[in-house]
Amino acid sequence: MSVDRIQEAKDLLEIMGAITKLKDGVYLVASQWNSDKSYIVDLAKRDCSCPDHLYRGGDCKHILAVKAFTERAKPKDPFDLSHTPLSMRPGDWGASTR
Ligand SMILES: [Zn+2]
Repeated sequence: MSVDRIQEAKDLLEIMGAITKLKDGVYLVASQWNSDKSYIVDLAKRDCSCPDHLYRGGDCKHILAVKAFTERAKPKDPFDLSHTPLSMRPGDWGASTR
């Protein structure tokens, strides 16, 4: 596995920690680098509002992260964060991982 793949996987994990479910199939993804920005990912349409997706098309890292997120974690109540480790909560990971 190359360093790039490992870095990519780490990026995905960080993004996964910043995903908020808005409704079925639609997720809000906080930007990893700029907490003021966040993107809307629509899984059904495979759509994302980030520039990367707009310009290049296809699956951007947000779409990939949301896919991995939904496949791994299937919380009973998406708005209940009490079962989520503190380090995975949006807003917390930025300070704890840097
Ligand atoms: Zn995106």
